[in-house]
Amino acid sequence: MIKAPRGARDLLPPDTALWNFVEATVRDVFRLYNFHEIRTPIFEETQLFARGVGEETDIVSKEMYTWEDRGRAESDKGQSLTLRPENTAGVVRAYIEHKLGTRGLNKLFYIGPQFRRERPQKGRYRQFYQIGAEVIGPAASGSESPARDAELLEMLGTLLDRLGITGWTLELNSVGCSDCRPDFNEALRKALEPVVDTMCSDCQRRAVNNPLRVFDCKVPADQPIIEKLPRMSQFLDEKCRANFAAVREILDAIEIPYTLNDRLVRGLDYYMRTAFEFTHGALGAQNAILGGGRYDGLSEALGGPHAPGIGFAIGEDRLVMSLPQTAASALRKPDAYIAPLGAGMNGPAARLARELRRQEIVTELGDETFRLKKSFEIASKAASLYVLIVGENEVKSNTFALKNIETGEQVMVPRSELAAKIKNK
Ligand code: AMP
Repeated sequence: MIKAPRGARDLLPPDTALWNFVEATVRDVFRLYNFHEIRTPIFEETQLFARGVGEETDIVSKEMYTWEDRGRAESDKGQSLTLRPENTAGVVRAYIEHKLGTRGLNKLFYIGPQFRRERPQKGRYRQFYQIGAEVIGPAASGSESPARDAELLEMLGTLLDRLGITGWTLELNSVGCSDCRPDFNEALRKALEPVVDTMCSDCQRRAVNNPLRVFDCKVPADQPIIEKLPRMSQFLDEKCRANFAAVREILDAIEIPYTLNDRLVRGLDYYMRTAFEFTHGALGAQNAILGGGRYDGLSEALGGPHAPGIGFAIGEDRLVMSLPQTAASALRKPDAYIAPLGAGMNGPAARLARELRRQEIVTELGDETFRLKKSFEIASKAASLYVLIVGENEVKSNTFALKNIETGEQVMVPRSELAAKIKNK
């Protein structure tokens, strides 16, 4: 038997209804903040991620699905392509390619699959889905303002509230900028030098290539060492300090609660200043629902104009897992199951189904060869509210037997009143 590949999964009903509920709510909320949808390709040139995400990151160094394309055309040959492991790089590439900054398109969102070759576990997949938004634009558009950081965080709080997700924590940090981070990196290197030999192999590599990443380490034995390391908060320069204070001031003013976490560094190279994560207790080990931050230098790193930006990516798989139980009861079940009774009844039944569906009644349609008992069984299994019987007498009198499956009550209803009666429950 052929199964779905490891780390990839089928999303099945009734869960897909939850996914649709999430996506519809996302679209409604993002609309209120004037975000517009963008859809970028699922694969891109490998270069884009090497430059935009960073060669040294786990994502680029170990987790990407990359292949050499063997196209027919000479120009395709040997091109290295990669399934997107995240969507910010693609959005910024599109922003540059289509000069979106000059068209005032500064607020973009996306919903779609991403791919990383990670070790699959609950809440971590190789094909997973992200919902993300980016505010990016020329400095004159205000994209650099701390007001944007706070607005984005408030939007996320609103989204989680609308989805009925409670008990989330917003963790906040500033990771400094290219002016002050080098000093911090230096201090970290120095502090790590005498102890790094006792740390895990990942940390030994990080200490050399990108010491900030040591804070990503989850190995228990390394934690006491990491606890004693210097923190970015001690090295923020005046501008970064003021910027972080301004973001927090707005959050306080609009009463968005947050926790400072000076160990929070984002896994991606282009982040600067504001970095954040929303976590949820019920998720277990993979407790981050979403992460994001500011990336003022990314557009330039990809060969574009100066275009400060900030964005986030929500793990949709985890968002769906965090939904309250009550969300499931919002799933729409069939209103009516139409049971054609006897030869020649498929036509009249189909006609009735067509009429009801045009009046927004969710309708299941049976078959004239089914006995009534079988029709009832199928209707119950589908959790239909009513069974509607279409037999010769019903068709003649244009009045139909409508049975409420739960109460067992059965009434005769004229055709013209059926939809209203069913809607009234
Ligand atoms: P990142 O792009 O690494 O900043 O991740 C942003 C969010 O995407 C995380 O907070 C997770 O919710 C989600 N995410 C990242 N990797 C995975 C994965 N392999 N499986 C499921 N969700 C993921």
